[in-house]
Amino acid sequence: MPAPVVTPAHTSAAALSAADVALLRAEFPYFAAHDELDVAPAYLDSAATSQRPTLVLDAERRFLESSNAAVHRGTSGAVGAATEAFEGARATVARFVGAESADQIVWAENATDALNIVALGIGEANAGLGVPGSERYALDTGDEILITEAEHHANLIPWQRLATKTGATLRYIPVRADGTWTLDDARAALTERTRVFAFAHVSNVTGYVAPVAELVELAHAVGAITVVDACQSVPHLPVNFTELGVDFAAFSGHKMLGPNGIGVLYGRPELLDALPPARTGGSAITKVTMETALFMPAPQRFEPGTQPVSQAVGLGAAVSFMEAIGVARAAEREHELVERLVAGIVETPGLRLLGPADTSQRVALAAVSVDGVHAHDVGQYLDEQGVLVRVGHHCAQPLHRALGITSSTRASVHVTTTEDEVDRFVDALRGAQRYFGAEVSA
Ligand code: PMP
Repeated sequence: MPAPVVTPAHTSAAALSAADVALLRAEFPYFAAHDELDVAPAYLDSAATSQRPTLVLDAERRFLESSNAAVHRGTSGAVGAATEAFEGARATVARFVGAESADQIVWAENATDALNIVALGIGEANAGLGVPGSERYALDTGDEILITEAEHHANLIPWQRLATKTGATLRYIPVRADGTWTLDDARAALTERTRVFAFAHVSNVTGYVAPVAELVELAHAVGAITVVDACQSVPHLPVNFTELGVDFAAFSGHKMLGPNGIGVLYGRPELLDALPPARTGGSAITKVTMETALFMPAPQRFEPGTQPVSQAVGLGAAVSFMEAIGVARAAEREHELVERLVAGIVETPGLRLLGPADTSQRVALAAVSVDGVHAHDVGQYLDEQGVLVRVGHHCAQPLHRALGITSSTRASVHVTTTEDEVDRFVDALRGAQRYFGAEVSA
């Protein structure tokens, strides 16, 4: 594994300056190539997928060039080296999110897959396919699975299906007018019948940061397990799942400067060990007969088949890169960018900010609805200005419906985002208003 590239931006404890960000951007081939253009694209879509630094690209490439082999299979030295890199990445990710052991980290394809491992596993436990300890996942008719109206479809549909399969009732916390929900809303919705409480740490539409530790405490008080969609928090905030007390959490490599094709399920050891695997096959077993199979402990139990090894190695490198910058330091920088983003939106008549205007409650992104202009028209106009954002429902149709709209335009930042890019987004929104005759005078 190569050592992280060390630039002044990585080594200072002080706030990240514009000069530091310029140095950081130089470490990303995407920016290095595009910043040369006359009109460089303003990449404001990291919430969908982030760009990758050379360190990550090189880590994957070097692994493939020198150490590629099937992990955990066979006895050769090459397999041993590949396995070491794969498991080393797991340990790095475990440390990054405050897990006490690397065995609490399960590799998945992405966050969607990680959430499905939990929901499908609970389904198996209730279909007579449990493992020792699976009784704790029993769902009876009338038991409740609680989610929120703000969830990404990845943290909604798996629970819909689990409820249908088991006869449990899927309930949700409705959002307020600004798309947020509170601790009190959760307190009112949790009941003695709640068995699972699944919610996003940070909403991918409103940027709202849920009070995870307090929510976990409320859920545990009624005996429910918590499943946290941490897709938009782990890339942007210092997160320690052990301190937060969460039972399961899911996130994706490609939103945190890492590769596609790799996601993470974090779980408390006793809960992972009591969860049956929903996908089964080679390498995840201890003993197989023609009638039965016994499974390995977590995490291998959930990793049947050939694994995304170079992607795991790349994700380990992405974590090293983020650690070298300092996650808290990056979060501070991103907070300033979000303040700038929100200020530009709220001071423009005819733009409706989704989510809290109080920037202390939000992280990394802002979605907006432009009065009188469809989000796809806004998106096309922004694209012509070289402003790259996400338009649509962002896989959160119910939330948009609750807000009385079908789609919105979302800008999201990362540690490499510049003030100029944020300003170009706001200017382009105003340009779209003028272009489509939807300008509103103050
Ligand atoms: N949850 C949230 C909050 C997200 O933003 C996303 C990505 N848009 C997902 C889940 C799903 O992530 P992935 O597509 O990487 O599985």
